[in-house]
Amino acid sequence: MTPKEAYNLLDVPSEISGDDLKKKYKELCFKYHPDKYKKDPDKFKKINEAYQLITDYRQNPQKYEPKNPGVWANVPDIAQDFFINLGFENEWSQPSAPPPQIRILVELSFHESVMGCTKDITYKRLNKCKTCDGTGLKKTGNGCDGCDGFGRVTTNSRGVIFQSVCTKCSGRDVAQNKCEECNGNRYIEETRTGTVNIPQGSKSGDTLRLLREGNFVGKSFFGDSYTDVFINVKVTPHTTMRLEESNVYSNCKITLLEALEGTSKEIETVYGVKKITIKSGSRHSDQIKIPNCGVKSKNGWHIVQLDVQYPEDLNVLIGVLKDGIHNSV
Ligand SMILES: [Zn+2]
Ligand SMILES: [Zn+2]
Repeated sequence: MTPKEAYNLLDVPSEISGDDLKKKYKELCFKYHPDKYKKDPDKFKKINEAYQLITDYRQNPQKYEPKNPGVWANVPDIAQDFFINLGFENEWSQPSAPPPQIRILVELSFHESVMGCTKDITYKRLNKCKTCDGTGLKKTGNGCDGCDGFGRVTTNSRGVIFQSVCTKCSGRDVAQNKCEECNGNRYIEETRTGTVNIPQGSKSGDTLRLLREGNFVGKSFFGDSYTDVFINVKVTPHTTMRLEESNVYSNCKITLLEALEGTSKEIETVYGVKKITIKSGSRHSDQIKIPNCGVKSKNGWHIVQLDVQYPEDLNVLIGVLKDGIHNSV
């Protein structure tokens, strides 16, 4: 069950408050209790499941995100090649404007694109200001001991967090000033580094997405929200090899005599030099497949395409062939 399916099952909108959700849940439990509702005894179980899932989802939304293609690790070295400056200062001048997307270009050699690799990346992002917890505010207390001076009390009821106005001071006289650390912007610019796994068979134009590793968007009921980071792949072309789907292709020049007689050649592949046998009577554009030398995770091949070279002066050859025909008639 996904959070969306759970909301549908309980027939409530996703922005429903914790209180209303609980109310609806109790209603449904009453209506579909197996003692009363004999038509579908599983209904009660499903309602329970859906309620538990939404409660968990609201506390741990990241658990329900699709799988992250990149793996993060702390790396001490900063690869300057991948350093980008997006000029946040200009792009996000107003707190209400959505923060810019972060896109990072990662350049790969041909071998890295076929075999996969890990790349260290570094970028600037707007992280949540820790001092004000992303609110941009510095609160000056009112001296009330019922709410530590902040006018609101937070209660945790069975995993659902509620905030309510303090009953003792009614939330009066709580001044809200700008946070000095972030100047009320809610975010602080930081340099972030990480390592990304580039999958085998990556091609120019491919995009990897790092979920929630980008700019701080704001706080919501579901927790802190961050943009994704997009990693754009660019592959430096190889002089003799090219990648198509999961196979690597290269050409092999042979003479007409070699094509007629057969021969063997050494071929450069991504996985080292391999020897191929060209059988007698081979033709131009014939393909010879070398297994396990393409994109390995997809059982790709290295495919050698024969390029038969004809001699400069064909007259001698034509003469020989004509003689041969006369002799055999
Ligand atoms: Zn702040
Ligand atoms: Zn109070």
